[in-house]
Amino acid sequence: MISSLRDIIDFLKSLDELLVVDIPLSPKFEIAAALKVFDGFPILFENVAGYNVRVVGGICSSKELVGKVLNVPFRTLHDALLDAIGNPMAPTITDNAPVKEKIEKPNLSNLPILTHYERDAGPYITCGVVFARDLDGKFQNASIHRMLVLDEKTLVIRVVPRHLYYLLKQAEKLGRPLPIAIAIGLHPAILLAAASSPPLGVDELHVANALMQNNLKVTYCNHSEILVPAESEIVLEGFIYPDKLAEEGPFVDITGTYDFKRSQPVVEIVEVMMRRNPIYQALLPAGIEHRFLMGFHREAQIRRYVSRVVPKVKDVRLSFGGCGWLHAIISIEKSSEGDGKNAILAAFAAHPSLKHVVVVDSDIDIYDLNSVEWAIATRFQAHKDLVVIKNVRGSSIDPSIDEKKLLTSKMGIDATKPLDKPQSLFMKALIPSLSEVKKKLEDLKLVSKQRTRTNA
Ligand code: MN
Repeated sequence: MISSLRDIIDFLKSLDELLVVDIPLSPKFEIAAALKVFDGFPILFENVAGYNVRVVGGICSSKELVGKVLNVPFRTLHDALLDAIGNPMAPTITDNAPVKEKIEKPNLSNLPILTHYERDAGPYITCGVVFARDLDGKFQNASIHRMLVLDEKTLVIRVVPRHLYYLLKQAEKLGRPLPIAIAIGLHPAILLAAASSPPLGVDELHVANALMQNNLKVTYCNHSEILVPAESEIVLEGFIYPDKLAEEGPFVDITGTYDFKRSQPVVEIVEVMMRRNPIYQALLPAGIEHRFLMGFHREAQIRRYVSRVVPKVKDVRLSFGGCGWLHAIISIEKSSEGDGKNAILAAFAAHPSLKHVVVVDSDIDIYDLNSVEWAIATRFQAHKDLVVIKNVRGSSIDPSIDEKKLLTSKMGIDATKPLDKPQSLFMKALIPSLSEVKKKLEDLKLVSKQRTRTNA
């Protein structure tokens, strides 16, 4: 059973899906560069210059891989996540936790925390899940935040106004710091759940446990009642001080552009738990893994909303070029004129940050952008198939937005075939025996087997 990051590393090795790098690379820029070169592939750095901690990245880079790890066909992964959010399950609590093999005083300079981009403010933890409890002890929250290292035991955390922000405001009212635990080196189900947005009060660890078919074990922290995954590689225990602020940024976020400096709350680490020979998990900002994790729950929601207004949704994708956030491509089985436009409206309702959406018929492969462009070229007429909505609330991560009012324009392209014309006009021409001949040529090694990535 795959229940930890280590199990996944072994599993990926057995599938020959893990790139292992053993030349020395520095956590300052060099590992980020390698993650960029091999964006979309899981990669293990065994020789991190100046550290005896290994670094792994790219584990959640494709739907196929995450599907394999979760034992779910990747085409049904959207439903699996929504089902887990709808039916969360409490994980088993254990004292016998591998993450408690070593307990140390905080010394962040012992961890190979990466500095990623040229103008980033410094080393950032980017794949850390922050756990906190509400002050009535009723529920626990998990969310992913970027955290800039200030010194050996201090971080500054970017907290957008969502659930952790709410818990922090609760603590502020009572004039106390908020106890937190930051777990690094986790099973993809935990990352996927923490990157999703279930309603406040739904514990993302329970969602992860449902995705893991009830195989998640958790353990209590030493300085709070917080539960963390027992097989985390590293857990940093500490407190967020709502009234202590520090400068956070600049930092590259999902768009691949620099987010600006802000005053954000400080985190003080009081203790570190870790496994023996821990593995530090990295995540390249604006890389495929980042966009996959942030966008996946939104894709699932778009699928659900669009399914309510058109008879059949084949697939939904937030494309990589659209930052995994701003652009959706949706394939549907159209049965009435107007289905395409209804799909556009439902998609905007499902994901308020969405800016552009293209709707195509089910014969178009949404993972092949040439195919999508071909549909726009041969099936779309701007004067009747284009939807433009002006001055709506958009995503603050889009640098082209009106940054004061956060207003944007949204565009939907209905590139589905019109039903009032002969459908044969739009048929994709095929060559008989193409796949058989391709197979023969591949056997002769004349055609290189290109790996296709559904999320790239
Ligand atoms: Mn939450």
